[in-house]
Amino acid sequence: MKQRNPTPQNCPCGKTLSYEACCGQYLDQGEMAKTAETLMRSRYTAYVLRREDYLLATWHTTTRPEILALSDHQQNQWLGLTVRLHDAFAPDRAVVEFVARYKQNGKAYRLHERSRFVFEQGRWFYVDGDILTGS
Ligand SMILES: [Zn+2]
Repeated sequence: MKQRNPTPQNCPCGKTLSYEACCGQYLDQGEMAKTAETLMRSRYTAYVLRREDYLLATWHTTTRPEILALSDHQQNQWLGLTVRLHDAFAPDRAVVEFVARYKQNGKAYRLHERSRFVFEQGRWFYVDGDILTGS
C-alpha cells in the first residue's frame, strides 16, 4: 500500500500552493480575500490552525458568536476540504458549498455545508450556513 504523506507545499485548504502563498496571505499578512470561496478556504485553514482571531474577524457582526469554543473541536483532526460550488449571484452576495472531512476520536466524519457570505466595506464576511445531509 502506498503511504499518503502530507505534502508541505500544500496549503491546508487543499490548494497546491504553499501556506504563505495561499491562505497565509489572509491569516497572517492582512490581505483581504477577493472572493467568497477564497474567504471560505482561508476560514477552513483557520480551523485547521485554530486561529480563532481570524474566524471571528471574518464573521459578520450580525451572526458572530462572542467567543469560539474551539477547544470543543480540539480532538478534530481536519483531513481535507472540497469546494463543490461557488455562486457569486450578486455583487455583494455569494454562497459556497463545501465538504470538509475530519476525524474525531478515530471516527471519520463529513461536514457538508452551504455557507452564505456578504461583501461589505470592501471585504467578504461569513454570515451563516445550512448543513446538508447526504452527499
Ligand atoms: Zn489555502
